[in-house]
Amino acid sequence: MGLKKFFISLIPTPLVKLFASPYIAGDSIEAAVVTAQKLWDGRRVCSTIDLLGEELESDEEVRYSVDVYERLIDSLGDQNYATISLKPTQLGSHCGTENCQKVIRGIVQRAEQYNINVTLDMEDHSFTDMTLDIFRALKKDHPTFGTVLQSRLFRTDDDIISLKSMNARIRICIGIYNEPKEIAMQSKPEMKKKLLQQVEFLFKEGHYPEIATHDEAVINDAIDIAEKLNIKKDQYEVQMLMGVPKQAFQDKLIQNGILVRLYVPFAEKWKYATAYCKRRLAANPSMAAYILKNILHKTAGKR
Ligand SMILES: Cc1cc2nc3c(=O)[nH]c(=O)nc-3n(C[C@H](O)[C@H](O)[C@H](O)COP(=O)(O)OP(=O)(O)OC[C@H]3O[C@@H](n4cnc5c(N)ncnc54)[C@H](O)[C@@H]3O)c2cc1C
Repeated sequence: MGLKKFFISLIPTPLVKLFASPYIAGDSIEAAVVTAQKLWDGRRVCSTIDLLGEELESDEEVRYSVDVYERLIDSLGDQNYATISLKPTQLGSHCGTENCQKVIRGIVQRAEQYNINVTLDMEDHSFTDMTLDIFRALKKDHPTFGTVLQSRLFRTDDDIISLKSMNARIRICIGIYNEPKEIAMQSKPEMKKKLLQQVEFLFKEGHYPEIATHDEAVINDAIDIAEKLNIKKDQYEVQMLMGVPKQAFQDKLIQNGILVRLYVPFAEKWKYATAYCKRRLAANPSMAAYILKNILHKTAGKR
């Protein structure tokens, strides 16, 4: 375990909860739905809502997650600003690909009744094959189903080739999981350079890239690539995490006609949110700094 990870593992759960509050919509479906609606009404920002939870190993917990997603979908109903995101290890991967695919298909079918798009998030490299297998299988019957690729993995160019002619919604990001050097880049600048090459590749292959990064220079370069290729502004979007302080930049993108979507996580039970918060703290020193600033701000405000 690295030093940074070690220190983060020492932070008591209630403090993690406090630190992470700007990054999580709340502890109910209603909080997530209201957040998405406010983002849209106030700033024309779209959302993708995610029920926090991963590495679930019991059928009961998987049934619980399905139930929450079904209630979330029914609460969202017909609207044009919110999609949902979900994870294989939250939805039955512990019993194999076939089981997971069946569970996810059920959620996708439910979402389809309201024209709500669904994205299958990408977890660490041990789930890449499973995720893409499920994606390919469901995409045939559910054309708006999308997934995620991580530019840090050496395999990603081949994965893009394997999605030929699928005209898919592909979120492209550097990836949040620390991966071994045998299979993944270790330097962030390299990952970002690769991400831009892959944005270009996705455009050329006829996909709809969802450019998921907070790096303004990378986003500007991606837009330049789109313009160079004569890609219309409705053929891609920019995605960021809720809580990352990039509002002015997001508003500028929206004014320029580019769709911006925020990842809006929520959890009814806090135990399912801890891993997400700790991972983001561990992977992103700037997030830790931002959180510290937040606390100082709150403390000063109380004086
Ligand atoms: C919508 C969305 C969905 C994602 N889905 C997945 C997924 O399915 N699988 C996966 O592996 N990864 C996913 N990621 C994570 C992603 O790959 C990166 O790890 C993460 O976004 C940080 O990388 P970055 O490109 O923003 O670059 P960075 O260099 O980390 O960030 C650029 C700048 O943005 C600011 N910043 C970034 N993050 C924060 C923060 N949390 N708080 C405050 N400031 C910050 C900092 O100023 C930083 O210098 C997703 C990211 C987003 C935005």
